[in-house]
Amino acid sequence: MTEIALSVKDIRKSFGNVEVLKGISFEARRGEVISLIGQSGSGKSTLLRCINRLEEPGGGEITLEGETLRTITDRHGNVRVADKRQLERMRMRLGMVFQNFNLWSHMTILENIIEGPRQILGKSRDEAIAEAEALLDKVGIRAKRDQYPSQLSGGQQQRAAIARALAMNPSVMLFDEPTSALDPELVQEVVQVIRALAAEHRTMVMVTHEMSLARDISSQVIFLHQGRIEEQGPPAEVMGNPRSARLRQFLRMEE
Ligand code: ADP
Ligand code: MG
Repeated sequence: MTEIALSVKDIRKSFGNVEVLKGISFEARRGEVISLIGQSGSGKSTLLRCINRLEEPGGGEITLEGETLRTITDRHGNVRVADKRQLERMRMRLGMVFQNFNLWSHMTILENIIEGPRQILGKSRDEAIAEAEALLDKVGIRAKRDQYPSQLSGGQQQRAAIARALAMNPSVMLFDEPTSALDPELVQEVVQVIRALAAEHRTMVMVTHEMSLARDISSQVIFLHQGRIEEQGPPAEVMGNPRSARLRQFLRMEE
């Protein structure tokens, strides 16, 4: 098995004439936490969406656990994935947690968590439930298992969404501003869960505005500006001793 869990190489993406990702490359070793920071509109979400192919990048390569997703360009110049099965396999190994939780509203919390393991991994109901309960314990909402998402607070819903992603046993977890939609008093309960995942060496790529979280758990912080990596390095360097005026200003605004 390779040391590198995720390799992102020269990812580009345009919407119409606007190039929003201008060649992004980085690697996440196993157990690493990478935080993506940057102003609104700098391309952070688009980058995560290109990694799990919610968006098809216009160029570049994603390699997950040594497996590179091949793309082909058709005669109209459209880029698409060469092998749909490979895409599904790779997506399954990426856990995604969104800003707005995205739980299925018509399913209970337990049903939300066992759906993927049942339908995609082919687990038995009993096995899926046993694992779901352990995950609900881990994120501290076991008592909510038979409730519907709307009956939970935002913080509880986000913890359920994290449990749902973990239930697929992903190689890499992707978080897109997991605490941004939460009332301030609920942020810490989600932050605590993410800290616990970092402590058990989960590989994670996280977009966040929680600067203290990024500083504490990241092995690398990447500052995106207008679709490019402007600075990258250990948090002590990037956040403690920023080189560019833009990053200094960004950090001042975030404090
Ligand atoms: P961030 O997450 O850093 O705030 P985004 O990745 O959401 O930034 O957006 C980067 C840029 O791409 C923005 O200018 C945004 O308006 C644009 N963009 C994102 N998604 C789309 C889309 N589906 N169609 C057109 N433009 C988009
Ligand atoms: Mg975003």
